[in-house]
Amino acid sequence: MRWTACELHAHTLHSDGKMTLLELASAAAKLGFECVALTDHNTMSGLADKEAAERQAGIAILPGMEWTTFHGHMVTVGLAEYVDWREANTGNIHDGVSAVHARGGVAGLAHPFRIGSPACTGCYWEYEMEDWNDFDYIEAWSGTFAPIKTDNARAFSLWTDKLNEGYRLAATSGRDWHDAAETEEPISVTYLRLEDESRPIGEEAAEALRRGRVSVTIGPLVTLEAQTPAASYRIGDVIPVGERTVTARIGIDFSVRQGLWTLADPACRIRLSSNKGVLEESAVQATEGTQEARITVQTEGLSWMRAELWGIVRGVTTMIAFTNAIYFD
Ligand SMILES: [Zn+2]
Ligand SMILES: [Zn+2]
Repeated sequence: MRWTACELHAHTLHSDGKMTLLELASAAAKLGFECVALTDHNTMSGLADKEAAERQAGIAILPGMEWTTFHGHMVTVGLAEYVDWREANTGNIHDGVSAVHARGGVAGLAHPFRIGSPACTGCYWEYEMEDWNDFDYIEAWSGTFAPIKTDNARAFSLWTDKLNEGYRLAATSGRDWHDAAETEEPISVTYLRLEDESRPIGEEAAEALRRGRVSVTIGPLVTLEAQTPAASYRIGDVIPVGERTVTARIGIDFSVRQGLWTLADPACRIRLSSNKGVLEESAVQATEGTQEARITVQTEGLSWMRAELWGIVRGVTTMIAFTNAIYFD
């Protein structure tokens, strides 16, 4: 089991990106990513050089594609082969998702509230959603310095609303990376918990997204576990009814991707959020090692909980990291 730093949304010259696959993979490796998904618009032709680029850059490349349509952009990751997107219309997106699933992939809403035409054709999500269970994830954070952007705040709220309605959906970040120019802005990382490293990483990453084994950050890695006398549960797991109290353990690992991010202010707050609101909040100081907070949680009425790290970045109080949910059944 390992938390793996992933960039889940990137483009090359094969769509409208400025980089070759090798340039993309090398730039991602330099930023401390262990894998990068190639999600070109409506093509997988950029993956022809995958093995050579992986070898040279020393990083795993996840096969993917962004369905780029007039009614929304849908990111797909982990596909064994190309899935035709051209039949997609506002009433049948679920057929497309089924086709992606049939080929081993997962599907998520890309930047669902980014301004659409004429600024960005089809960027705004307009598909009719019959069953949110069909979808694997929502790209809650898009672009750089993602947590302060208003369209991302809307996407994050959409995710929270769906959790409150009882859906078990993952939330991710994706830079929607198009060019190699360096940025001073904080870069989001989607950490995926890979359970079986003997399997191909594309399959394992898709499985992690399917199961919600996901933690997102612009800094330290935040993890969440829940313990009962009998068992321990991790992000993406479901705690069965009957457990009246659990001990939530929030871990904050300040040692990840060292040197690639900074928090100007070491004062942070760790928050345990749920469908019943904030269960507990406490202060934590950013240090070099790993810190842990333990919280006793009464489970009555809970359907999900997640951990969040808040602090001051570039003078703005913002969410720095969030885990995906642990669920209660
Ligand atoms: Zn897009
Ligand atoms: Zn994109």
